[in-house]
Amino acid sequence: MKLRLHNSLTRRVEDFVPLDPQRVTMYVCGPTVYNYVHIGNARPYVVFGLLARLLRRQYAHVVYARNITDVDDKINTAAAAAGVPIATITDRYAADFRADMAHLGVDAPDVEPHATQHIPQIIAMCERLIAGGHAYSAEGHVLFDVASFPAYGELSGRSTDEMIAGARVEVAPYKKNPADFVLWKPSTPELPGWDSPWGRGRPGWHIECSAMSEAHLGETIDIHAGGNDLLFPHHENEVAQSTCAHGGKVFARYWLHNGMLSVEGRKMSKSLGNTMVLHELLQKHPPELLRYMLLKAHYRQPLDWSAAALEQARRTLDGLYTTLRDLAAVPAAAGADLPEEFLAALTDDLNTPEALAVLSRLADAARKAGDAQAQQEAKSALLGAGAFLGLLQIDPETWFQGTATILAPEALQAAFALVGAELRELQGDDLIDGLVAERQQAKQRKDFAKADQLRAALLNLGVVVEDTPQGPRWKRASAAPVAA
Ligand code: AMP
Ligand code: ZN
Repeated sequence: MKLRLHNSLTRRVEDFVPLDPQRVTMYVCGPTVYNYVHIGNARPYVVFGLLARLLRRQYAHVVYARNITDVDDKINTAAAAAGVPIATITDRYAADFRADMAHLGVDAPDVEPHATQHIPQIIAMCERLIAGGHAYSAEGHVLFDVASFPAYGELSGRSTDEMIAGARVEVAPYKKNPADFVLWKPSTPELPGWDSPWGRGRPGWHIECSAMSEAHLGETIDIHAGGNDLLFPHHENEVAQSTCAHGGKVFARYWLHNGMLSVEGRKMSKSLGNTMVLHELLQKHPPELLRYMLLKAHYRQPLDWSAAALEQARRTLDGLYTTLRDLAAVPAAAGADLPEEFLAALTDDLNTPEALAVLSRLADAARKAGDAQAQQEAKSALLGAGAFLGLLQIDPETWFQGTATILAPEALQAAFALVGAELRELQGDDLIDGLVAERQQAKQRKDFAKADQLRAALLNLGVVVEDTPQGPRWKRASAAPVAA
């Protein structure tokens, strides 16, 4: 099936045609390791990791590189604050990053280059740029000469003025042009540094990716990806460095960018104190729930992380797991072909919302199947497609044991505010039973306002109450509306 991808370079969805089908190459900008990553950082690794899976299905040999940025001023600050060498910080957080990614079901890349292990290649690239008239040294720095590359700004589609404003580049006396950016900078004795033709110093951030990509994937690569916050200046600068270092050869043929993740409608930031740390989320929620959240929006769209969205996602997964639990006795064939419509969704610029909709349709088909054969086929297809997305991998009983108590904290608090302390001791279905009984009592004493509040609170917890002649009954709604 033909893979189509949105290319930021042309701003269009294009057929993906690799330069060499025998060796497909992809580079994704990796994390700067000075702290735990947040859930927004996980988005590119989940979605582009899925793209790597898709590529591997279609091509025999795929080389996927995802780097580790282990030299950076933020790392220096963290190391100085802790009074340790930078490697103490970077080794620790790189290991935590790998562990968190594995927990989240993100496949490891084929290559994980570290910037500090590529200093000779970085220096060599700087030297080549200087020799070619694209960079110059000044006061221990090496700067890229933006005026030497007329295509500068093409990827991000910005004018020079916008670029200068956007990059907030330092206007320094040693620069020929304020837009010129640093390839190498001097280090004072207390900072990490390496000997170079320009004195002891350290690389700038952008050159690291150009050098590592060249070292592991070659001069022209098929796909380069990252968050759209990197489009400018990071990716624009990578294009400038690599193209000029390689005599004008195209650097990356397809540029893919994911949209930003916000939290409850606001940008995630330290000053707002709303940073959702992946490591902490993984302690509170099943990893599949987090994966589902990251896949349920199309990767190019913004994605808002909220308690309501998390609750909705949990209900949808509960619905799928309910089907699997109900069909526990139906055998499933391993290695079934992925359904056509599922692959059609994914090959259409990684349309994961549609691929997830296919999962729901497969679950419906499995439920409604008329005979054992059809039921088995639909269940196998559901499990196969789920596995490809890194979902539905858990035994359904385990899923429900694990998640019964994981109700959205905000929704729980709202419900608790309406009831006495004894109910707050309960968990899972017992808690729901208690809340339903409480509502029944409110109705009996004609406190309809309270009864309505409890019904709304239950709805928020994903539970629909129905009044029957035999008394109230409740069920989990797979797509119950979520009150604001
Ligand atoms: P950094 O370590 O800041 O370079 O970020 C690692 C990756 O996460 C990059 O590909 C960024 O573009 C991406 N990223 C950072 N913040 C967000 C966010 N809020 N939403 C989605 N992706 C993000
Ligand atoms: Zn990069």
